[in-house]
Amino acid sequence: MQCPCNPNKKYSDCCQKAHQNIHSVTSAEALMRSRYSAFVLANIDYLQKSYHSSTRPSKREKKEILAWTKAVNWIKLEVLHATENTVEFKAFFMENGSIDVIHENSVFCKENDHWVYLGQK
Ligand SMILES: [Zn+2]
Repeated sequence: MQCPCNPNKKYSDCCQKAHQNIHSVTSAEALMRSRYSAFVLANIDYLQKSYHSSTRPSKREKKEILAWTKAVNWIKLEVLHATENTVEFKAFFMENGSIDVIHENSVFCKENDHWVYLGQK
């Protein structure tokens, strides 16, 4: 199957590696891509794991995130700009019949020796 983050790559050569072992992620952009793919695949445990401990959603929020990502249809990811610890992206999805976009400049850092998502800039 194609990777949700990049239709030119196979999932097994791309985000699956991250989903199987978060320690294999070597850059902020790769972590961001793997989080997008986890939203598409409703892999909520990976999403939780890839948050920094200070911003990780609560159990209740986790359920809401899971319900939301299952309710929308993800269309595509566009990475606009990436630095060592930030990634600006657009994530397009369909919700209730209309196209919507998340445009975010995300900040990443390392915790427990692997990349994690800290929050928005
Ligand atoms: Zn991918």
